[in-house]
Amino acid sequence: MTTALGKYVGTAVAMAGSGLGLIAVWTGSALAPAGWGTAQLGLLALVVFLAGCALALLSWHFQRQRGQANRYLEVLARLTPQDLFSDSPAVVLPELPPKHPQAAAIARVKEALSAHLRRIQELEHARAALEVRCRRAVAQAEQIKAIFSYLAEPILAVDDYNELLLANRSAEELFGFDSAKVEDRALARVVQCQPLVDLLAGTASRKTPGSRTEELEITDAQGRRRWYRATAVKLAAGEGAEHRCGCASQGAVVVLRDIADHKAFQKRNAEFVSAVSHEMKTPLAGIKAYVELLADGEAEDRATQEEFLQLISGQADRLQRLVENLLNIARIEAGVVNVNKQPRSLNEILEEALRLVRPSAEAKNIQLVAELSPMYLAVLADRDMLLQAALNLLSNAVKYTPEGGKVILRSQTDGEHVRFEVQDTGVGLSQEDCQRVFEKFYRVKKDRDMAPGTGLGLPLAKHIVEDVHGGTITVESKLGEGSTFAVILPRAGQSL
Ligand code: ADP
Repeated sequence: MTTALGKYVGTAVAMAGSGLGLIAVWTGSALAPAGWGTAQLGLLALVVFLAGCALALLSWHFQRQRGQANRYLEVLARLTPQDLFSDSPAVVLPELPPKHPQAAAIARVKEALSAHLRRIQELEHARAALEVRCRRAVAQAEQIKAIFSYLAEPILAVDDYNELLLANRSAEELFGFDSAKVEDRALARVVQCQPLVDLLAGTASRKTPGSRTEELEITDAQGRRRWYRATAVKLAAGEGAEHRCGCASQGAVVVLRDIADHKAFQKRNAEFVSAVSHEMKTPLAGIKAYVELLADGEAEDRATQEEFLQLISGQADRLQRLVENLLNIARIEAGVVNVNKQPRSLNEILEEALRLVRPSAEAKNIQLVAELSPMYLAVLADRDMLLQAALNLLSNAVKYTPEGGKVILRSQTDGEHVRFEVQDTGVGLSQEDCQRVFEKFYRVKKDRDMAPGTGLGLPLAKHIVEDVHGGTITVESKLGEGSTFAVILPRAGQSL
C-alpha cells in the first residue's frame, strides 16, 4: 500500500514538473517575468522537468528498496526452522543487494530470528526425545506392573510415612483389600499385622541400605494363620523421586514368602527327633537297668544272669532294628541308597519271606497260607529291599494277629502290573489309623503291648515299594476283623 502510494507520488511529481515546463514553453512570454526570452523559459521548463524526473527516479528507487526489504521481511516471517536449516527448504529468502540501506538491520533481525528458530529446533528435538523416553518409561512401568501383579509372592511397598504405595494382587488377596479403593493408605490401617508394619517402618527409616528378614505369622483375610518369611528392603531414593518439600523420597518394599512347608518340615523334624529319642530311651533304659543289676550282683544264680543277658540282648536287638530302619529310610529319602534292580521272580521273593516269618507264626499258632500265582511274575526289583518290604508286612500280620489266627499271602497279575497282598485276621485298624500307619513312628496306642515295634516298618516298606520300585502300597482294614496290605508293582519286560 505504502509502496503503491510512493510510486504514485513520484510519478505525480515528475508529471507535474514536465507539465510545468511544457506550460512554461507554450505560454511563453505571457507568464515569464519581463525580460525573459523563450530560451530562458525553455531552460526553466527543462530544469523543472528534469528535477521532476529525478524526483520520480529517486522516489522509484526508494520504493524499490523498501519493496525489497518488505518482501524480504515477509518471507523471513514465513520461515520455519526446517527452511532455515534444511538443504532443500520450502521457502527461500530472496537476495538483498549488499548496499541496501536496511541490510544491516535486516541481517540482525535474521540473526535473532535464526537464533530463536535454532533454539526452537533444539527444543523440538529435546521434546521428541523426551516423548520417546516417556513412552518407553510408561511401557516399562506397565510391564513391571503386570509382572509385579502376577508374582505369586505377596509384595507391598510403602513410602517414608509408612503409607501404602503399591501392593500386588497376591498381597491384596492375603490381606483382603483393594489398593484402588483404599482411602486411608496408612499401612497399619490396611494390613492387620503390626510386626509387618513395624518391619517396613524400621526398614524405611534405616540410614543404610540392606535387607531385613523376619518370620511372621499372618492372619489372612479368611482368618487363617499362615507363616511367611518377610524380606524387607529399603527403597533407594532414585533420580526424580523427590517430595514436594525437596527431600529425597524413601520407603521400603517387602516380599512375603510362604513358609508353611518349611514350618511343617521343622515341626516334623522336631517330632521325628523327639520320637527317635523316645524310641531309643526305652531300650537304653532297659539295658542300663539290667547292666546295673548285673554289676550290683543282683543276679546271683546262672539262670537269672542268663535271663538278664537275654533281656539286654533283646533291647539291643530292638535298638539295632530301630537304627537300621532309620538308616534305611534316611538313605532312601536322601537318594543315596545303592539300588540293584534286576529282573526277579516275585513268587521267589515272597516264598523267602514266608520261610523267614514261619517260625514266629508257628510260635503263635498262626496259620500261614500261601496263595501264590502259578504264573511267573516278573518284577524289576532289588531283591533284598523287596524282601524287606514283604517281610515287614508279613511279620506285622503275625504280630498284630492274636494266637490261632490266619495270615494269607497272595500274588497275582494285575494287567500291566503284579500284585501281592498280605491278609490277616488280626486286630484290624480304624479308618484314621489306616491313613496314618505309613507315617514314621506311628503306632496304634492300643496295640503297643501286643508286640515290640518301632513304627518304622511300614514307612520303610512304603519307601521301598513306591520310591525304589515305582509301585503303590495300600491298606484296607476293619477293626477287630483284620487287615489287608496290598502292593502293586510294575511288571518287568516280557523278555523274562
Ligand atoms: P511297628 O514296628 O510298630 O510294627 P510299623 O510301621 O510296621 O511299626 O507299623 C505301624 C503300626 O501299624 C503298628 O504299630 C501297628 O499299630 C499298626 N499295624 C501294622 N500292621 C498291622 C496289621 N497287620 N494289623 C493291625 N495293625 C497293624
